[in-house]
Amino acid sequence: MKSIPNCVKCGCAFTYENGNFYICPECGHEWIEAVESEGESQKTIVRDAHGNALQDGDSVVIVKDIKVKGSSSAIKIGLKVKDIRLVEEVNGHNLEAKVPGFGLMMLKSEVVKKCND
Ligand SMILES: [Zn+2]
Repeated sequence: MKSIPNCVKCGCAFTYENGNFYICPECGHEWIEAVESEGESQKTIVRDAHGNALQDGDSVVIVKDIKVKGSSSAIKIGLKVKDIRLVEEVNGHNLEAKVPGFGLMMLKSEVVKKCND
């Protein structure tokens, strides 16, 4: 059970809920409950192509050929990338890693698979 807060205006305790609103019978004030953001302390879980959660420092294997902007070569399936970092997502790219032969770049978690060795 969630408790209904006192009126934010007059402090009346006989407030009641009406849909998304709280209503005060004393002063007639209506307000919407402040929704606390739940995700604040909780980091978004980044998952690989198989749904495994990834963490900073994990080693992964590329599961899809990836074309690299400004390069004639592509990152090939099976390439191992060590020590990934989870980063804030930019255009779906939520990992950062030093890819052998390419250097530091951003990747999508869906194109990698966690490897345990
Ligand atoms: Zn009130």
